[in-house]
Amino acid sequence: MAPESFVRIAQLCQQLQAAGYAYYVLDQPIMEDAVYDRLYRELQDLETAHPELITPDSPTQRVGDKLSTQSTAVAHRIPLYSLENAFDLAELAAWQTGWQRSADTTAATAYVCELKIDGAALALTYQNGLLVRGCTRGDGTTGEDITANIKTIRSIPLKLQLDNPPEFVEIRGEAFMPIATFDEINVDRAANGEYLFANPRNATSGTLRQLDPKIVAKRRLDFFGYTLHWPNDAEIKVDTQWASLELLKQMGFRVNPNCELCPDLAAVGNFYDKWQLDRQNLPYLTDGVVVKINEVALQQELGFTNKFPRWAVAMKYPAEEVPTQLLDISVNVGRTGAITPLAHLAPVQLGGTTVQRATLHNIDRIIQLDLKIGDTVVVRKAGEIIPEVVRVLPEFRPADAREFVMPTHCPVCNQPVVRSSLEAATRCVNPRCAAILKGAIAHWVSREKMDIDGIGDKLIEQLVDQELVKSVADLYFLTAEQLQTLERMGAKSATKILAAIEKSKSQPWSRVLYSLGLRHTGAVVAENISQKFTSVEALMAAEASQIEGIFGIGGEIATAVTMWFKDAENLALIDRLRAAGLNLEGTAVAPSTGIFSGQVFVITGTLPNLQRSEAKELIQKAGGKVTDSVSSQTNYLVAGDKAGSKLAKATKLAVPVIDEAELLKMLESV
Ligand code: NAD
Repeated sequence: MAPESFVRIAQLCQQLQAAGYAYYVLDQPIMEDAVYDRLYRELQDLETAHPELITPDSPTQRVGDKLSTQSTAVAHRIPLYSLENAFDLAELAAWQTGWQRSADTTAATAYVCELKIDGAALALTYQNGLLVRGCTRGDGTTGEDITANIKTIRSIPLKLQLDNPPEFVEIRGEAFMPIATFDEINVDRAANGEYLFANPRNATSGTLRQLDPKIVAKRRLDFFGYTLHWPNDAEIKVDTQWASLELLKQMGFRVNPNCELCPDLAAVGNFYDKWQLDRQNLPYLTDGVVVKINEVALQQELGFTNKFPRWAVAMKYPAEEVPTQLLDISVNVGRTGAITPLAHLAPVQLGGTTVQRATLHNIDRIIQLDLKIGDTVVVRKAGEIIPEVVRVLPEFRPADAREFVMPTHCPVCNQPVVRSSLEAATRCVNPRCAAILKGAIAHWVSREKMDIDGIGDKLIEQLVDQELVKSVADLYFLTAEQLQTLERMGAKSATKILAAIEKSKSQPWSRVLYSLGLRHTGAVVAENISQKFTSVEALMAAEASQIEGIFGIGGEIATAVTMWFKDAENLALIDRLRAAGLNLEGTAVAPSTGIFSGQVFVITGTLPNLQRSEAKELIQKAGGKVTDSVSSQTNYLVAGDKAGSKLAKATKLAVPVIDEAELLKMLESV
């Protein structure tokens, strides 16, 4: 036995037990579900490797937690267990292989996919059609009698809608609190100075265990039924889970309509993918898909482990927050010279991708987090946002955790760094720093700036490292011969790149200004400045007070702009750009900086007033792009009379459909 495993198992058991108690008994979780799940997995893996270390009170050996003492305990006739988790399709396939091995079959079977509602499981007993008892899941074998509370839930029938109800039937399902109700209740609780519920699931469990049914009634819980249990000699027999759902509906229960009978795992995968997005629009929370073997006979053959049914599995949706270890911190030098600490993490699955790096923003953030190298941290990624470290789990801090020290010199050019008292960033201020130059070139060539195709990070590295380019203006003096000295650069690619550079000379003055990358000068600010100062000379001669007050521009931006034009190196750059033939004057509105910048439109059908070509021109003038076919990249479909397949496709892909009037309104709103 490895002593470190022994210690770790004990540590994990203790942490998970404390978390389980806070979650199941107090309804006040002390950690995120994703953190709990990961620690739980770690414990499971260690216990699989060292079965001799499993203790009977290990959280892997039990469902839920002790019951709270206020209610009557009731033994369940059939265990009311938890569900095994699968976190991706590979784990789902492994689950299938597992049950097939237990059943000694390789035969295909149908699965019922149901959404996993994030609430609390209930067991409801009906005798001769009347609700006689309702219990919580409790520890799976024993639950709490909460009949009076359950009777306040309107979607639970007190009497079954059956002409000849059986003598005994047990219905199981999920009590839940709709998101809107949860929000309202928390607003009230905050106003009354009460602690807030962490999530609708805890709010549901807490409510169900209230001593006063009147409070439960006010909380407006809801219920979806999903399982039917008959005694062996039942009058009514159901052979499949799908038929159970049908019968539940007939009996008067709400059954979640978002379920599907899937012939195989591929269909299960499709259901899972579809609901990963669609579930965001539901008025209640779901955290995965429950996959159940349809055939009841096969379910009975497979039975239960001490914790799960073997015939069902919960496919969880990827968490947006997970814990992992911080292995190291390095620093990155950006285009503006800002030195950003970057977390190097033990690889972890997050929101469907493997994450190994996360931004730490600046040194203040590290101090605020009380972060040390070696710590276990919680990393979050929401949508496409760069992952970030949101919290440290201090209980996991190893004895050899190290403090991070911000470098005093730039890691790229070795010049001293500067930290102004006015901002959180530490900066390299050496204008010749290679990192700053590389960043400035990457910024200059990018699509929404000078839009020069074919100059990627690798090429930029070489151009700077081989000193072919010392400022963005040097790009305009590159020759085919010089380019061809670079790695993997043939005559053809060199010609293409030179043509792209040449083409960028026609970009309007507003874009050049934007591409120069002055502090705080984004596309809109550059556009607005260039409208008032229609040439670089005019702008160079401007006082900050003349710039300030242009729509959206305050003192800070105005000062940054005037300061930039006072710097001799910057003025030399402007001279070189002028010599290269770039547009440093003019009022033309740069198409890609208009209100539809970056937006893709498709036009279909007959518009009431505009020709399609006219609508196209208006969109393009506002910076939008018009394409012929609808895809997931399309932002809007402009549909007129007799719109056909494009409209159908847009509806299918949930692309917003607008008419001519709405288009004109959007254009007018600028
Ligand atoms: P679970 O929630 O992962 O799955 C089982 C439950 O799913 C069932 O009991 C049932 O209530 C529910 N369910 C919803 N829809 C269903 C459907 N259509 N068919 C069948 N069941 C359905 O397991 P669990 O044992 O209830 O809880 C474990 C989870 O609770 C962990 O994964 C963890 O995320 C969370 N937890 C968190 C903490 C914490 O500190 N944050 C502590 C303990 C547990």
